[in-house]
Amino acid sequence: MKICVLAGDGIGPEIVAEALRVLDVLRRDGLPLETEMGLLGGCAVDAAGDPFPDATRDLARAADAILLGSVGGPKWDGLARELRPERGLLRIRKDLELFANLRPAVVYPELAGASALKPEVVAGLDILIVRELTGDIYFGQPRGIEVRDGERVGYNTMIYSESEVRRIARVAFAAAMKRNRRLCSVDKMNVLEATQLWRDVVIETAAEFPQVELSHMLVDNAAMQLVRNPRQFDVIVTGNMFGDILSDEASMLTGSIGMLPSASLDAANKGLYEPIHGSAPDIAGRGVANPLATILSAAMMLRYSFGAAEAAERVEKAVKQVLAQGYRTGDIDAPGMTRVGTRAMGDAVIAAM
Ligand code: NAD
Repeated sequence: MKICVLAGDGIGPEIVAEALRVLDVLRRDGLPLETEMGLLGGCAVDAAGDPFPDATRDLARAADAILLGSVGGPKWDGLARELRPERGLLRIRKDLELFANLRPAVVYPELAGASALKPEVVAGLDILIVRELTGDIYFGQPRGIEVRDGERVGYNTMIYSESEVRRIARVAFAAAMKRNRRLCSVDKMNVLEATQLWRDVVIETAAEFPQVELSHMLVDNAAMQLVRNPRQFDVIVTGNMFGDILSDEASMLTGSIGMLPSASLDAANKGLYEPIHGSAPDIAGRGVANPLATILSAAMMLRYSFGAAEAAERVEKAVKQVLAQGYRTGDIDAPGMTRVGTRAMGDAVIAAM
């Protein structure tokens, strides 16, 4: 279980340090985890003149999984596009062919008040959005802006091949098998042929997973259902553009950006695991960032890349316990709770483990 650790910029090193301490506990208890540190993002630009240096690429390729903090910050905002920290993130995703993005949205009962929705609508929410990450209208050709008949027109191409749909569908069915075995595929087949093919291939793939209950929903309805009754879902699978929008909508159901992990997987379940939030330059270096999204990203790594479900559960249960005990970093604080910093939150998780 070889992990390439890329702490990145801003709060990245602080939150990753806590995740590594959690992994240390598991290593001491016998899990064969090995970690090696590399540079990605602004820190890599500073050290090597490249946001995704060759050394990092080699390290990431050789690893079984990558744990990432976050990249970026105002220090590098003025650089040429190729040197921007975010460019490093896009390049590593492409280099490793990470086509499946898994974004859980979990509302811990103790944090239900942080959601913009009524607590009774979101309390206990636990859904997973599986978004295709390397195809669709974001990459389709032809694309452009040109003059036709004397006026400018802009155009893009929504395109999916059946192999692209089948591989993301398989990831989603497999994820559903590890959860409550219900999968909802989201498309717009009433108007878009590309998504008619999507639906057809998802239905074909379902034959490989007879234990999973498959349903379909049009994307406009899915957007509505996510705020009306989000708990009806277990796993949602959808294309790149719809997934981009729905996964952000789903993350806001939880109201706490510092709590949400994510995974991006390749065809062999090698993955890059990272919190969904950014490098939070406004609080970097102050020891107040919430490390739980990163700790939960490490738990996802254990589950999806290493098949270590028990270890993953141990970490997730510990996170639930510290919330139940009332420990809160600033971003999720509420009256009557115990305010802690990054390190003390890590300590609390380790104690709960
Ligand atoms: P952000 O997610 O970094 O911060 C948004 C707000 O949430 C800030 O007020 C921040 O303090 C708070 N926040 C975020 N994570 C937190 C945590 N763990 N604990 C407590 N509070 C937290 O988004 P932004 O401010 O738009 O972007 C800052 C930088 O991060 C930019 O350079 C951006 O490009 C980069 N970014 C990187 C990633 C990534 O690495 N995947 C994702 C998004 C943004």
